[in-house]
Amino acid sequence: MRFTRIVFFGVVQGVGFRPTAYRVAKAMGLKGYVRNNGSNVEVVVDGNAQEYVEAFRKALPPLARIEDVKFEKIDEEAVRKALGRSGNIDFGIVHSRSGARDSPIPPDTAMCEPCRMEILDKRNRRFGFPFTNCTDCGARFSVIRDVPYDRKNTSMDVFKLCPVCQSEYRNPEDRRFHAQTISCPSDGPRYRLYDGNGKKVRTEEPMADAARRLDAGEMGVLKGWGGMHIACRLEECGRLREWYKRPAKPFAVMFRDLGTVKEYASVDDFAKKMLTSPQRPIVLLPRKAKCPEMLSPGLGNVGCYLPYSGLHHILFSMMSAGALIMTSANPAGEPMLLENGEAFSLGLDFCLLHDRGIVNRVDDSVLIPFRGRKFFIRKSRGWVPDGISVPYNCRVLSMGAERNVTSAISRDGKLYATQYVGNTTRYNVGLFQRHATGYLMRLLGVDSVAEVVVDLHPQYATRKLGFEMASEFKVGVRQVQHHWAHAASLMLDNELGPDEWIICISVDGAGYGPDGTVWGGEVLLAGYSGYERVGTLEDFPLIGGDAAVRDPPRLVLALLEQAGVDWRSWPLHGLIGGQNVGVLRKVSKTSARTSSLGRVLDALSCYLGFGTARTYDGEPAMRLERFLELGKASHRFELDEPKYYDKRKARIVKITPLFRQLHEAALRMELDERARADLGRSFVECLMRQLTDIAIDRAEEEGIRRIGLSGGVSYNLPINEMVIRRVQESGLEPILHGRIPNGDGGISSGQNAIAGMARIR
Ligand SMILES: [Zn+2]
Ligand SMILES: [Zn+2]
Repeated sequence: MRFTRIVFFGVVQGVGFRPTAYRVAKAMGLKGYVRNNGSNVEVVVDGNAQEYVEAFRKALPPLARIEDVKFEKIDEEAVRKALGRSGNIDFGIVHSRSGARDSPIPPDTAMCEPCRMEILDKRNRRFGFPFTNCTDCGARFSVIRDVPYDRKNTSMDVFKLCPVCQSEYRNPEDRRFHAQTISCPSDGPRYRLYDGNGKKVRTEEPMADAARRLDAGEMGVLKGWGGMHIACRLEECGRLREWYKRPAKPFAVMFRDLGTVKEYASVDDFAKKMLTSPQRPIVLLPRKAKCPEMLSPGLGNVGCYLPYSGLHHILFSMMSAGALIMTSANPAGEPMLLENGEAFSLGLDFCLLHDRGIVNRVDDSVLIPFRGRKFFIRKSRGWVPDGISVPYNCRVLSMGAERNVTSAISRDGKLYATQYVGNTTRYNVGLFQRHATGYLMRLLGVDSVAEVVVDLHPQYATRKLGFEMASEFKVGVRQVQHHWAHAASLMLDNELGPDEWIICISVDGAGYGPDGTVWGGEVLLAGYSGYERVGTLEDFPLIGGDAAVRDPPRLVLALLEQAGVDWRSWPLHGLIGGQNVGVLRKVSKTSARTSSLGRVLDALSCYLGFGTARTYDGEPAMRLERFLELGKASHRFELDEPKYYDKRKARIVKITPLFRQLHEAALRMELDERARADLGRSFVECLMRQLTDIAIDRAEEEGIRRIGLSGGVSYNLPINEMVIRRVQESGLEPILHGRIPNGDGGISSGQNAIAGMARIR
């Protein structure tokens, strides 16, 4: 007999690949075997291999993705050896072996429809069993310790399969054939209910009991796949805010079904596709009148998502409430909780916990739909550890910046980012980053890298960790400027090759500049091999450094003073009062200076009374967004053409005269909400027009066609519209994010691309 070995690369593990391979071979009457190599899947057949692959592609399971197929001849002896058989050769599934690991393991995937039907069907043996899954769905990344993806390498290893599950597992006709993490009510994990103090509640039906408590207004902890949530009805939002000490940070809401989401938020076709996708992200959608303001105070949108685990479906089937606030359970700034014991320390009304270990913490993903694209605020559950293709093969580790951190690792033409890590000013978050990075490297079989990339900021914990890891690997460290990394992440996102250049409007809250000032309103001429600062905002002092970031009225004071305006003429000057302006003036002389657009938007928002306090990252600028949407650019601010700056040749957008004109206009007007919205819109249009024009001029000079928008400010949808319109009017092509986060979650990808592309040459 003549045999061909077919090797499939791509997302081929834990997605029902082997059972499908088996069924197709059986249907075609072929002999041979299928084997998981820990990196790829090999199928050996004795017939026409091309025909087999064609038939296989038609039967491809939903989560599988074939990226490459290789063929080679193999002799009968080797087939017999693999099958461990001397007589008749049939078609078999042979044991996994751990080979080179070039294939990612699958991400956590929302419960599929057939599984959901089973748990809601009283006659099914999995009725009400929240851990139900099959080859098409379930927790993966969050429960896998190592590759190859077999049960013994997951946190399901302690649950021994019962005879019925075993027969499903062995039956090629079954949906659970070789599904590694299956279980049932008689052999699987289970939920238990505890009161707020950690005392076990005597109940036969912990989930039904929890559902009753939620309906009655209790707040509880729900342990899920890759972490824990705090859950309560929308009506309890005020109490939750008080308890959590989060006066304004938006809470995400999980809705019973799509119909219920539509009562609270506007859902278009693309949003619907995102909401119901197997990744089930939190999608920020325009709120409707029924949506309580308190869920996302001052914002025009609300985070919505649909049930993705068995527990979610079961709870909603038992509750009368059609919506729950579901927010990550973590003490302020700390990583999300994983251990059952930690849940009790929160002191909520109840805890619904299970006895399956969480191997990997993975937060819910969050995205904003924009013109059919995904702006990822957080790319985590559902996407991690999927890689994206890069044109370089070397192994590079990159560490990100400070907030919304991810690390990223490249190998063999792919770039993998870790799950969302968080704000690394916290020690425990730093530990989590080390753990998550080490885990991803192990999963990918990467034990050393060619170099490590860090941010320029001397104080970042990610930088320190990067240097530590570089010395462990005995390799060099590359330092990459923050806004250049944003630009490179945008180029990679748009699949631009190693020699391409763009003009990037790289705008955010803060990033360390090579001149020691805080950058954030930058127009860069950028490629992977270098960048030039083409334009920027006029800088102004951050009075008291970080204190000014936390206290928006200080930003207003700094700009008013710089504009030579008496601060007491600001209608809201009382917000500054109580503080000693004389002292602040003195402090401002020695304070760090910034060209950050994020801070200018904070100041504008505060000046107009939209966002006068900052209780979470980016709050004032985010509160401004709704008014930018509402307002009309009815005021004409006069601003000179941005002049060339003597020293660095960067063109400066003058903020001071703009702020002075804003103030003068405000004093002349009756400042109702409408008028303030118009002023805000006019201000931002003027500023963005200048930044964009600098980009357009330079693009035309250089013969560059693409102008990009990246950085945290690029989540602001009206600002996207302004830039896109201006760029298109000039006949150039705007480029935006869609796969890599716009904000600092994308920094590690940009850093990685800069180092990786340099190594192609
Ligand atoms: Zn399923
Ligand atoms: Zn069982």
